[in-house]
Amino acid sequence: MNLQMTEEQLRVQALARKFAEERIMPIAREIDEKRYFPWHIAREMGELGFLAGPIPPKYGGKGLDYISFANVYEEIGRACSSVRGFLAVHAGLCSLCIYDWGSEEQKMEFLPKLATGEYIGCYALTEPNAGTDVANMETTVTRDGDYYVINGTKHWITNGNRADVALVFGTLDRSLKHKAICAFIVRTDTTGFERQRMEGVELGHRASDHARMVFRDLRVHRRYLLGKEGEGFKVAMGALDHGRLGVAAGAVGVAQACVDACVEFARKRVQFGQRIGEFQLVQEQIADMVAETDAARLLVWRAADQKMRGIKNTKETSIAKYYATEAAARAANNAVILHGSYGYSNRYPVERYFRDIKGLQIYEGTNLIQKIIIARAALKEADELEAAKPPS
Ligand SMILES: Cc1cc2nc3c(=O)[nH]c(=O)nc-3n(C[C@H](O)[C@H](O)[C@H](O)COP(=O)(O)OP(=O)(O)OC[C@H]3O[C@@H](n4cnc5c(N)ncnc54)[C@H](O)[C@@H]3O)c2cc1C
Repeated sequence: MNLQMTEEQLRVQALARKFAEERIMPIAREIDEKRYFPWHIAREMGELGFLAGPIPPKYGGKGLDYISFANVYEEIGRACSSVRGFLAVHAGLCSLCIYDWGSEEQKMEFLPKLATGEYIGCYALTEPNAGTDVANMETTVTRDGDYYVINGTKHWITNGNRADVALVFGTLDRSLKHKAICAFIVRTDTTGFERQRMEGVELGHRASDHARMVFRDLRVHRRYLLGKEGEGFKVAMGALDHGRLGVAAGAVGVAQACVDACVEFARKRVQFGQRIGEFQLVQEQIADMVAETDAARLLVWRAADQKMRGIKNTKETSIAKYYATEAAARAANNAVILHGSYGYSNRYPVERYFRDIKGLQIYEGTNLIQKIIIARAALKEADELEAAKPPS
């Protein structure tokens, strides 16, 4: 892995930084306060080629490499987690999943429109009674001639109220667990597709569009089955490998935003006749933030590099997601303290980072689940090494 960025990677990073600083940062506080998603920003990201990231031009994408795409997520996450969350779901969980698993016909029908933002995508996996334990989902699928009929409920679906296209997961037979799950590309204007805003006020990601969805005899033609019957679990997990990279890189953005805010505050705030940045305990907080942000970024780049080279990266992506979101949570916690009472109101952005980061620790598999994935992979690797040893 080459740690020196190419000219193209630097160009994309600079473009994303400029866009995030000029178009997203100025509205981040307002959209959080007023709880609305800036859909015009989605169209602008489409024009810049960010919505389809690594997807080839044939399907409307820009063919970005994954390190460039991770840098886009980081820059947008540094400005606003709600906008970065939109992108990780639209591009990572929806478009890249269709790209990986879709037929040529499906790719041509959906990807170019998702790339421009003409269509908004979402990913409907989580249910009220099946979150982590998705193989136990209750949404049912029955065959009816050329159609499948879907019944069930999903919740917490990001982009869900605005989405034109939803990836929907259901089971043909609950007793077969993950072996019977099917994935579908569903037009949200199909009869039987109902949605509403999630009840309550979210802790963070307050500008995000979170939906509860109910499917009542939703009929989907078999040409919209994504992957084969019974492959839905693999489709869902493959999408999460893409989405988790977006979450990890977005967390690096939050951590970097904490560093930026704290350095700025520590340079200006005077107590006991000197800048608080001169106090060694304040310096310790900044040093931890800077070091952990750098470490998290390198883990993200490693996972992105493996994706780029077509190497299996589930473990490395989980490590990046786990470490980066925990590091950003520590950074946000300390950033509020470092700002004293100023960190306690939305006059400064750190209270938003503190609220937003909790979502990144939960969605696309809580960090407890990331730890399980990492530990199981480590044990399996050791078992395989032992099995490969010649008998002594
Ligand atoms: C802001 C936000 C956006 C989201 N967007 C989407 C979306 O776009 N699409 C979508 O499908 N979902 C989405 N989700 C849902 C999210 O993916 C789930 O909330 C998450 O996977 C956890 O599921 P759960 O909430 O049902 O918790 P549960 O599965 O009920 O877990 C509760 C607790 O138990 C722990 N736990 C569960 N099983 C185990 C185990 N085997 N070992 C150890 N601990 C365990 C968990 O770590 C957690 O701490 C979103 C959630 C949030 C908060």
